[in-house]
Amino acid sequence: MPHSSGGGSHSGGSHSSSGSHSSHSSSGGGSSGGYHSNRRTSDKPFPGSKMYLYYQDRKPRFIYSNYDVSKRDVSNLIAGLIAFFIILLPIMIMCLIGMIFSFEKPEKISYYKNKKPDFVIEDNLDIFENEKNLKRSMKAFYEETGIVPAVITVKNEDWNKEYSSLEKYAYDEYVARFPDEAHWLIVYSEEIKDNGFNDWYWEGMQGDRTDPVLTASRANKFTESLHKRLLQREKYSVDEAIAATFDEYTPQMMNIIMDKAQFFTCLFLFLVFGGSTYYSFAVAYKSPKVPEQLKHAKAVNLTAVYQEACSYCGGIYIVGMHRECPHCGAALPEHHYTKDANGNIIQIM
Ligand SMILES: [Zn+2]
Repeated sequence: MPHSSGGGSHSGGSHSSSGSHSSHSSSGGGSSGGYHSNRRTSDKPFPGSKMYLYYQDRKPRFIYSNYDVSKRDVSNLIAGLIAFFIILLPIMIMCLIGMIFSFEKPEKISYYKNKKPDFVIEDNLDIFENEKNLKRSMKAFYEETGIVPAVITVKNEDWNKEYSSLEKYAYDEYVARFPDEAHWLIVYSEEIKDNGFNDWYWEGMQGDRTDPVLTASRANKFTESLHKRLLQREKYSVDEAIAATFDEYTPQMMNIIMDKAQFFTCLFLFLVFGGSTYYSFAVAYKSPKVPEQLKHAKAVNLTAVYQEACSYCGGIYIVGMHRECPHCGAALPEHHYTKDANGNIIQIM
């Protein structure tokens, strides 16, 4: 169904298209919700914990933990990678695609490829001064765009009894005349009052097939430009105003245009999601570093602890856990001890 491409009147200024133009909105959301691992360490044993032996300040120390304290926590990194590939990467790709598709080169409407279009000019008011020139400009517009302009003038009384607005009248005229939906109808209406006052209106009605070329932003520019000319009657007759506006926009109609709103929305989302990706990886990469002293921590299962000082460096170590001094690396003397069923040293000989 056709829809208004814009219009105006002597008093009300111009209004923009009320088209059924689809608006592209993209929405997306997601968060890389932190993966909360249940990693816990303590000075005292707790359910699920193991005892770990490590050395600090040349002395043995113990820590209770439910994870291997010598290994780095990569769960955040893994959760981040999963969130990245499932949520962030697709959104970022969509944003990039959205940015690319915000540039649009219109394609000529091909409805009249194999038939000759009719250029309707119906000046019922008999006000046109140069119909030939108007037809020339309409043809030039058609040849560039594939959209067939049509121009009709009527009296206000032809429609204002039956219709509440010229737009509604223009709609019915369009539907009755141009079932192809490839026309762009411009209806101009006026009534010269007794005091010479001209009560004029105009309306553009575009078919659905014209939408890809006659976008809302192009239609709005055309509407503004034509309305400005119609306000300058000393300079332009109605047909001249229409012809001049077609001539003004014909060379621009097929230019590549950028949908700025779409482009910047996509760019913004891309930067937000890209930035949060960078940030979350930076955090995940930095956060859970293993402290130096825990890098060589060992899980142990000791019921009794026997300590001895290294005869080379004097550092204290736990007997039975090492072949070499954990402090200086010197070979340790063999100890003779007895172990229980669990492998714990229970006595040094
Ligand atoms: Zn030593």
